[in-house]
Amino acid sequence: MPIVCIDAGHSYDTPGKRSPDGMKEYTFNKAAAIAAKKVLLQAGMTVLTPHRDDHDVPLTARTDLANNGRADLYVSIHANAFGGSIWNGVQGIETYIHPHHSGEEKKLAQMIHQHLIKSAKRPDRGIKTADFHVLRETKMPAVLVECGFMTNRQEKQLLASDSYRKTCGEAIAAGVLAYLRKTVQHTFYVQTGAFSKRENAEKQAAELKKAGFEAIIKS
Ligand SMILES: [Zn+2]
Repeated sequence: MPIVCIDAGHSYDTPGKRSPDGMKEYTFNKAAAIAAKKVLLQAGMTVLTPHRDDHDVPLTARTDLANNGRADLYVSIHANAFGGSIWNGVQGIETYIHPHHSGEEKKLAQMIHQHLIKSAKRPDRGIKTADFHVLRETKMPAVLVECGFMTNRQEKQLLASDSYRKTCGEAIAAGVLAYLRKTVQHTFYVQTGAFSKRENAEKQAAELKKAGFEAIIKS
């Protein structure tokens, strides 16, 4: 089954990275990551989480974990800020991929972004490109999501709420699963083709079907 890296950006102790009234970005990122992880685990995925509560894991360590752990996909979860630490009207959700992105990366971004916009019901700022470390140094399709602006009063209220955090995390996971269902079924075929006992193959096929994938057994 696929390995998905769910990266909550920053940590509690990261300087800056908070709303004008003091909400730490990491509190949103972490809660959304937990919600996403829960859905992905239920779907049978393996989930890697490179963030830690007690320190801001360096970006290189985050991408090393994903690369060495052979993650199939990487999603970095963030909340946005505009204009420093002053409330302003800039709002909405945007998703980033690397300027030299692959077609798969674009598809993954589209799936996650569509699910986020639909579920979170915030203005759509589109899919953008940026030379961020986590997008550049990851060997697998990687996406960075900005789930709303901490510097916008209305969105900060949402970003601080348990329900919005859960909504965003679950939408990200739904986007990941939709992408996997659409694009990499042949990978699972190859993986499930390696059983020596048919009953083991059938067991794996049943798990794949439970997770919403097609599974074909060929002897
Ligand atoms: Zn961030």
